[in-house]
Amino acid sequence: MTETLFTNARLADGSLKDIGVVHGRVVSIAPAGAKSDAARRIDIAGALLVPAFVEGHIHLDTSFYGDRWIPHKPCTNGFDVHERVAFQAENMARAAPMDERARNQLELCVANGSLQMRSHVMVDGSVGLKSLETILKVREEYRGIIDIQLVAFPQSGILKSPGTPELLDEAIAMGADLVGGLDPASFDRDLQGHLDVVFGVAEKHGVGVDIHLHDFGTLGAFTVEEICARTVALGMQHKVAISHAYGLGNLDRDAARRIGARIAAAGVSIMTNAPGDHAFPPVALLRGEGVIVFAGSDNIRDSWWPYGDGDMLGRAMMIGYRSGFYTDDELAAAFDVVTAAGAKALGLEGYGIALGAKADFVTLAAGHVPEALVAVPKGRRVFKEGRLVAENGAVVR
Ligand SMILES: [Zn+2]
Repeated sequence: MTETLFTNARLADGSLKDIGVVHGRVVSIAPAGAKSDAARRIDIAGALLVPAFVEGHIHLDTSFYGDRWIPHKPCTNGFDVHERVAFQAENMARAAPMDERARNQLELCVANGSLQMRSHVMVDGSVGLKSLETILKVREEYRGIIDIQLVAFPQSGILKSPGTPELLDEAIAMGADLVGGLDPASFDRDLQGHLDVVFGVAEKHGVGVDIHLHDFGTLGAFTVEEICARTVALGMQHKVAISHAYGLGNLDRDAARRIGARIAAAGVSIMTNAPGDHAFPPVALLRGEGVIVFAGSDNIRDSWWPYGDGDMLGRAMMIGYRSGFYTDDELAAAFDVVTAAGAKALGLEGYGIALGAKADFVTLAAGHVPEALVAVPKGRRVFKEGRLVAENGAVVR
């Protein structure tokens, strides 16, 4: 017997369907109005039903969302990661308790329809494992509402921050799911030494890697190539991601295609949030070469920038806007970045609207995906494994 039947759901191909869900999984997809013995019915009323969004890069420990407003402090002489890290430490000392701020951010993301998330959490000589301990507890509170992967993120560098290699190792043993990194060449000034630690810990524990890489130009591209080479050498294809990879946006098309083919062959994913006023990865070109490009909010109202609203559909719109995407296929590609491609990058099981998949859905007031992408409609209903978890911009319990 079907437990719940979602009726009159408009799928991406425009068809109206009834979707049966048992034990949180899709068991039937039939034309709307077909006979069913469902115990419970939820009428989607012709709204677009899409898989829940994948928030692929966020920082649950450092946002001030829901806390008081903290004005942005510019760097003294152009963007400088070291200086921003120092500003962040000052701000964090005055912020509301981390668990409160993390909950605020999670509620925002769930309300907007993200039910899978990858969050980086600071693990380094400055904060030790304290932030991770807090975020691990918050993750438990939200089990069954949102699935969260945690990256042990060495925000103060690995070689420059004493004890960080050991802390990364402990973080994975405690429950972090991936090892992070930060600008191996420009921050730690030792590309190979930094990657030795990151991939060493990942190999020891059999976990994935997700490295922040802000370096522009040749240095950024070179670092991408080195990460790809390590990934292949260790047989870690499809377990490694590079976040930002701004340098890929500085290359001419031929060079970008060559490196794109290399990234695809190494099974390395690229995360972009379509950042402000500088280069970012060429999304269409990389996808054309077979690279998995995914997205995240990254910082939301924190020490890095005041922007961010936790809405991955809005993020997809920004990616499309900044990429010059206009055709329906291009708009659908931007949507794919925050849905199916995100699921691939995060290695999620049972993603999508398909038989056997988890019934993680979002309803959107739009006729089709391209319209949803440009309109970014609110008033969504969000279902986790067939259960309503958010409605009209708020989590329901
Ligand atoms: Zn980040």
